[in-house]
Amino acid sequence: MADYRAPTEEQMFVLETVADLTELAGLPGFEDATPALAAQILAESARLAQEAFAPLNAIGDREGARFSDGAVTLPDGFAQAYRDYSAAGWNGLSADPAHGGQGLPFVLSVAVQEQFTAANMAFSLCPMLTLSAVEALQAHGDEAMKALYLPKLISGEWTGTMLLTEPQAGSDVGALRTSATPAGDGSYRIRGQKIFITWGEHELADNILHFVLARLPDAPAGSKGISLFLVPKYLLDAQGRPGARNDVRAIAIEHKMGIHASPTCTMQLGESGDCVGWLIGAPHGGLAAMFTMMNHARINVGNQGVAIAERAWQDARAYAQERVQFGPIIGHADVRRMLMTMHSLTQAARAIVYANAAAVDRAHKEGGPEGRAYWKRRADLLTPISKAWATDAGIEVTSLAIQVHGGAGFIEETGVARHYRDARIAAIYEGTNGIQAMDLAGRKLRLDNGTAMGELEGAIARDVACWRDGGARAKLEAALAMLGRARAAMLAHDPTGLGAAASPFLALCGGVVGGWLLGRQAEQAAARLERGEGDPAFLRARQASADFFLTQRLPLALAQIAAIEAAAEQIACI
Ligand SMILES: Cc1cc2nc3c(=O)[nH]c(=O)nc-3n(C[C@H](O)[C@H](O)[C@H](O)COP(=O)(O)OP(=O)(O)OC[C@H]3O[C@@H](n4cnc5c(N)ncnc54)[C@H](O)[C@@H]3O)c2cc1C
Repeated sequence: MADYRAPTEEQMFVLETVADLTELAGLPGFEDATPALAAQILAESARLAQEAFAPLNAIGDREGARFSDGAVTLPDGFAQAYRDYSAAGWNGLSADPAHGGQGLPFVLSVAVQEQFTAANMAFSLCPMLTLSAVEALQAHGDEAMKALYLPKLISGEWTGTMLLTEPQAGSDVGALRTSATPAGDGSYRIRGQKIFITWGEHELADNILHFVLARLPDAPAGSKGISLFLVPKYLLDAQGRPGARNDVRAIAIEHKMGIHASPTCTMQLGESGDCVGWLIGAPHGGLAAMFTMMNHARINVGNQGVAIAERAWQDARAYAQERVQFGPIIGHADVRRMLMTMHSLTQAARAIVYANAAAVDRAHKEGGPEGRAYWKRRADLLTPISKAWATDAGIEVTSLAIQVHGGAGFIEETGVARHYRDARIAAIYEGTNGIQAMDLAGRKLRLDNGTAMGELEGAIARDVACWRDGGARAKLEAALAMLGRARAAMLAHDPTGLGAAASPFLALCGGVVGGWLLGRQAEQAAARLERGEGDPAFLRARQASADFFLTQRLPLALAQIAAIEAAAEQIACI
């Protein structure tokens, strides 16, 4: 198996051509985020990803997290790698400078996390959840809470978790039963059980801050009655240091298909009636607060699809260069087809996720409320597409990586099967891809009378109209017409029809947006070639993969129109 090499040149190209990094650096507060600094940061994170995270991937998969007497242990090396990660300040990259962060764009943090995730997905989940916790606290915590907890999360001294899921409350979060009772001193007593909690217990950091959804005594039924609480593993003493153990404990960890080094915990809260928590945000406002955290996490999970696809592609390409059957197998057209499919899917997924993250940045920093609202609509619309389309791509690419390896791919020692097993969860957690499709079709498509989708279609049409490659332009214009047809069909569906067509609609949207962004990269590559800038081989490869995607993958996405229009009767007999 090949060593992971972070694709920094590729990442920089996407940051510049899709995320418009230079424009982002023109926004107030982002002045430091120049392409030169971004390149420096990515080179630095690549070193840590390659040298510290990647070597622990195989042992993490083989030995996994272990559970004994309420404690979770990780294989040797994990604690040191986590210390290296936090000592270098990686958690703080895009966090608020007022609390120790560096205030750089989120999209840059996404690029950095792509590298850590590709190197070791199970390990990277620990910082990923902490980053989402930082986001939720920044947006919804009061000033005292922020001062007390944010600097420690940002420094990585403490980590964060998300406690939503209960046995009867998975996709239907509103069915949760964990209770929170006011203690009379501003704190609450939490009682309940949460399952499937990622990195819910470990010893890598000095404290763990659990972000817990629970119901107050007067809570209305369903999702409107949920509140968000902060529940530390160790309560803080008068100096703000971890002190007494709080009544929140892991009672088991799961045996899973993949991400073995990520402990997935069953958490018992308030077994002896003494689990102390504090309300974050308004009473019954928990879902809104959690959505901040989840939206952030959904983009990061989409990014997992990108990362694991990149890793699998690198392994498959290296193997295809070495393996000889009738000559090196990379010489066979079908193998090259598989590699091109893997590469172009990975690139399209990366482009969607980075465009989404850059839209989040602009929603925060763009001058004027209208500009910010425009980019927020774009970010919200792209989030379910990033999450679902990129993680589906991760599964397809890792599956193809096994195929490229032939029988060796099926053998665990080869290592490539691990990527497939790891990739599979990303389509399930953080809201299943089916739930993402419903979010896109049921909510985002209709939001503000369909403004967001109209704006996206307008932006694609304006961009495509300037393309010099007439063939690519024609493909995108036809795709836009099909997207319009699909949108009209979705808006005409009854609820059952909408549910039946939601995933095909998301697949079509992802194909069109991915095709647009790859076409855009090819245009920029052509412009650089004309100007004699950059590495010609690298730039021609960008053009080739855009051409491959637009010719071979975009039509597959557009073919979803049949499923979108077929409506509900097709599923009636199940
Ligand atoms: C390894 C791992 C780590 C996790 N980490 C965390 C964590 O850190 N914190 C946390 O709180 N949770 C976590 N989870 C839980 C995860 O978010 C849930 O498993 C996920 O949201 C799905 O819920 P469920 O498993 O109950 O599936 P169900 O909700 O039972 O879904 C089963 C199927 O029904 C479909 N479905 C359900 N409702 C609808 C609907 N309305 N419309 C269409 N289709 C629907 C789903 O798409 C799915 O295909 C984790 C899970 C795993 C396996």
